[in-house]
Amino acid sequence: MSYQVKEIYYTLQGEGARAGRPAVFLRFAGCNLWSGKEEDRESAACYFCDTDFIGTDGENGGKFSSAKDLADKVFGLWPGGGGAYVVCTGGEPGLQLDETLVLELQSKGFEVAVESNGTVELPANLDWVTISPKPSSELLVKSGDELKLVFPHEVKPKSVSELDFKHFYLMPLDSGDEVKNDYHLQAVVKYCLENPLWSLCLQVHKVVGLA
Ligand code: SF4
Repeated sequence: MSYQVKEIYYTLQGEGARAGRPAVFLRFAGCNLWSGKEEDRESAACYFCDTDFIGTDGENGGKFSSAKDLADKVFGLWPGGGGAYVVCTGGEPGLQLDETLVLELQSKGFEVAVESNGTVELPANLDWVTISPKPSSELLVKSGDELKLVFPHEVKPKSVSELDFKHFYLMPLDSGDEVKNDYHLQAVVKYCLENPLWSLCLQVHKVVGLA
C-alpha cells in the first residue's frame, strides 16, 4: 500500500477533548465529499471546507511507498520524550489509513488519532476517533471518542445525540464575518447551556497563532 500525503507537521491539537496537546498532524490527500477544486464546490456534498488537501506538495508531503516509510517520517518530526501523538486527518484519512500504518505508528510509541467525516470504514486499531458528520452523506461510523459538529448547520445536534460517543462538541460556524461569527458563538453557548450533553469547541491553535 502506498500513501499520498499532503503535509505533515508538528503543532498543538487545536480542538476537542485533547485541545492543547502536542501532536504530529498527518494530512492525507483527497476527500470523498469534495474534489477540493473551487469549480466543484457548489455541487459538492461538503461545500464549506477550508482545507487544502489536493496533491502532495505541502510541508513534508509526498508519496510514501510503504507504511514503514511514512511512520519513519512522522517519527522524525516528534521532538522526543513521552506522550507521542499523531492525528491523521485530511481530506478524508479513512480513504488511505489502514491497520498496517496504525500498527507501524504505534510500534514507534505513537498514540494514533483520526479525524474523519465518518462516511468510510476506519481501521479497528485506532486509539482515538473523532467524527464530524457532514450534510447529505451517509454516516457509517456511529461510535468513537468524540463527535464534532459545526453549528448552526444542516446536521442538527439532535439527529446525532443518541450515537455512541464519549464527547459531543459544537464548533461555531465561521462565516468570515465578525458580526455573524459572534452570533454563531452565542448560539453555540446558548445551545450547550440548554443541552449539556454538548460542549463548546474553540480552535485553540488559532488563538495561539499556530497552524
Ligand atoms: S469532509 Fe472534511 S476534508 Fe472533506 S470536504 Fe468536507 S470538511 Fe473538507
